[in-house]
Amino acid sequence: MTEPYLGNPQCTIEVLQKYDFVFQKRFGQNFLIDTHVLDKIIRASEITKDDFVLEIGPGIGTMTQYLAQSAREVAAVEIDDALIPILEDTLKEWDNVTVIHGDILKTDISRLAVEKNGGKPIKVVANLPYYITTPIIMGLFENKVPLESITIMVQREVADRMLVGPGTKDYGALSLAVQYYAEPRIVANVPPNCFMPRPKVGSAVIRLIRHREPPVQVTDEKLMFRLIRASFNQRRKTLVNGLKNSQELDFSKERIENALTECGLPLNIRGEALTLQQFAELSNAFTAFRK
Ligand code: SAM
Repeated sequence: MTEPYLGNPQCTIEVLQKYDFVFQKRFGQNFLIDTHVLDKIIRASEITKDDFVLEIGPGIGTMTQYLAQSAREVAAVEIDDALIPILEDTLKEWDNVTVIHGDILKTDISRLAVEKNGGKPIKVVANLPYYITTPIIMGLFENKVPLESITIMVQREVADRMLVGPGTKDYGALSLAVQYYAEPRIVANVPPNCFMPRPKVGSAVIRLIRHREPPVQVTDEKLMFRLIRASFNQRRKTLVNGLKNSQELDFSKERIENALTECGLPLNIRGEALTLQQFAELSNAFTAFRK
């Protein structure tokens, strides 16, 4: 069986030169060139020969080679035209990889899970393009893609945002969404010199393991996330004003104040002070009113 060979920086440079590849900043291209980091990602993602894995943004196929070696099947979605012929070359030894030329934000991943994995939960592994980290993660969760876990390289600061709770400046809609759907765990911190070209910021590998049951009970998930977005869109305002001013909501001031009082929350509280449990209770208070 062929061993992955691209984690070696020398081989990466050879491939890039062979194809005269020009890095596209707009696609967030920072290719991994460190075998230790690649080994860590593969180990943390706990891939077995039973697994179908979705890779987002394979680049020249470095991590794809490692994934193909460990998994039953891999599908890798890449947007950059220039990388498609390179991937055909670097992945030719692996017959369990499908490269899909397209935009991950427009890819029907649930359909892919049906076609490739009989609709069973899939594992997602990626060194994400940083300019669209949040839409990718939110898309996976909100579109109800059948997911087992997501193991991803992101900016260190974004990883921190996924982990924190109320009372920190990084706490926001991403923290609440990630913690509602999954249990986040940092796998590794990764310095800029592990990439080509080097990003300006530090990175981290984070693993999100999908909850079997959400940690809080909500009658209307969509409403809870509307409340969350409204609270953090105007995080310096009180929760009452944030909700009243939201384009996504249509509640009177009186109704908002009643809901807060019912949840035992002071009327001058800011949204950023609420825990996930409190957002769930608030959402349930609004839906109870509807009846
Ligand atoms: N996986 C490779 C590695 O680790 O060396 C490359 C990672 S690089 C950070 C991000 C990759 O995502 C690039 O190959 C880039 O072209 C691709 N990409 C960017 N935007 C994308 C999109 N919307 N859909 C699919 N791929 C995208």
